[in-house]
Amino acid sequence: MLQVAIIGSGPAGYYTAEALAESGHAVLVDVIDRLPTPFGLIRTGVAPDHQSIKNVTKRYDQTASRDDVRFVGNLSIGRDVSVAELLDLYDAVVLATGALQDRKLGIPGEDLAGVRGSADIVGWYNTHPDYVALTPELNTSDVVIIGNGNVAIDVARVLAKTEAEMEGSDISPKAKDAISRMPLRTIWIFGRRGPMDASFTPKELGEMGRLERAVPLVDKADLPPMDGDVDLEPKQRKVLAALRGFGDHSAQEKPVQVHFGFYARPVEILGDDRVDGVLMERTRVENGACIGTGEMFTVPCGLLISCIGYRSSAIEGVPFDERLGRFVNNDGFISDRLYAVGWARRGPTGTIGTNKPDGAEIAKRILNDVKPMDKPGRKGLDALIAKRQIRAVTFRDWQKIDAAERQAAEGENPRLKFARLDDMLDVVGTEAIETQQVKK
Ligand code: NAP
Repeated sequence: MLQVAIIGSGPAGYYTAEALAESGHAVLVDVIDRLPTPFGLIRTGVAPDHQSIKNVTKRYDQTASRDDVRFVGNLSIGRDVSVAELLDLYDAVVLATGALQDRKLGIPGEDLAGVRGSADIVGWYNTHPDYVALTPELNTSDVVIIGNGNVAIDVARVLAKTEAEMEGSDISPKAKDAISRMPLRTIWIFGRRGPMDASFTPKELGEMGRLERAVPLVDKADLPPMDGDVDLEPKQRKVLAALRGFGDHSAQEKPVQVHFGFYARPVEILGDDRVDGVLMERTRVENGACIGTGEMFTVPCGLLISCIGYRSSAIEGVPFDERLGRFVNNDGFISDRLYAVGWARRGPTGTIGTNKPDGAEIAKRILNDVKPMDKPGRKGLDALIAKRQIRAVTFRDWQKIDAAERQAAEGENPRLKFARLDDMLDVVGTEAIETQQVKK
């Protein structure tokens, strides 16, 4: 039996587990997560009003329910057990830890109150236990969002939607309430390059045109003439079509205006104790690169959210590329029997589905590179968990948490998430504590 530990139970972790389990080889897989809840980005990254995207977890449920795949939650690598210890216990270890930290803008004023990264805001409205205690500075009418990716769109949409539009979501009630009380008037979404360089997907952009109280606006001068569309990729063409459908700056028909501003990058965040504006520089694009023109303008705001991508967190003893914000790896290979997959491997790009071929590739690599070495595997991990008195949880325990969250949901909402780890562990009951064993 080849025994593999996968650290991280998001899409990359579960697709890798699935590929290993279905390889036809004799493999036992433990999928480890620091939270008692599986599915990583699907639970706490995907927007709360995009429930259909979350349906992909049904596939991970199937993998998790196999006898040869086990979920070990509430076990933190670095705090409870080290990568070196896992390498002693298992034949191979895969880092599928995603990218949870915000990239920094690296400009003056970034530390002012009212400047937030998307990891904070998304974690907060998605009830991620690490972020639920945040109190984002929502007592403002003007928000600036930096970045032209889908996370920028998600954040703008969640802020702009009415409470009624968030029905059927699993947004944190605290966040929903705080957002509904915001005196919101204006959201600017700035891209440092042009509309054709934006990484929005047409579907997500199109949604911005169908909001109840918010109208998307774009300066038509930023959009290229239509006759150039034939040379564009289909996705770019659709993005441009969506932007062309948005109003111009004179449109005022809804109380909240969402401005898409292109060719502008932030150079300084302004304010004394708290952000009150951002100094922007107009840019032009040359050979795909953004070049500053020296022309400056100021945009007032009481909250600035940078949605400019994420970084993985370094793990002790594992080579980490600080510049790229991910583990040093060669096509997923880090060092003898240690691999990376998903965002931990390639950085924060691609869709959830991108992790499927990624996981399959890493599984294949492991099966080619590593031979079973009669390691302690599961039994060894269980002994370590018992010795250290860690309250690890199983997939069955998660199913209890899941059932309790679904039961607590109101109206059309699919679930009411637990905000505190202790509350989740209370639902799990005493079995895990008493036996100090992780059982399937
Ligand atoms: P992203 O798509 O890479 O977008 C990041 C944006 O930040 C880019 O517009 C980038 O501009 C800009 N940026 C980076 N550094 C900057 C700086 N210093 N100053 C100004 N702008 C800067 O990342 P993301 O939005 O975080 O999304 C991450 C991944 O998750 C993507 O693959 C995304 O598609 C996916 N996702 C998908 C969905 C969905 O399908 N519904 C939802 C959310 C996220 P440049 O292009 O000029 O670098």
